[in-house]
Amino acid sequence: MRRQERIAPRPPRIAPRAKKTLPFYQSAEWKALVAQVIKLRGRRCQDCGSGSGRIYADHVKELRDGGAPLNPMNIWLRCSPCHGAKTEARRRERAGLRPVQD
Ligand SMILES: [Zn+2]
Repeated sequence: MRRQERIAPRPPRIAPRAKKTLPFYQSAEWKALVAQVIKLRGRRCQDCGSGSGRIYADHVKELRDGGAPLNPMNIWLRCSPCHGAKTEARRRERAGLRPVQD
């Protein structure tokens, strides 16, 4: 079908992982900790210093790598571009495109 071909999305170069939010990220404990960390450090990106846009609380050592979920020392605040860049880098590492360096 010609029409379907036209609207079919092109596959991404690196398939993203199934978008599945861990229940942990909806938990009151996590939300309270993020609010506390933002309050203490300020609502700004710890990579580039940007204070505009959405700020993400990122696990330095990710949960699936055994990182501590609720330890503030394992949390890094990032703006959207920095968060995206870091996530993409980790995805490439996992895909074996670059050696993992922790
Ligand atoms: Zn940033």
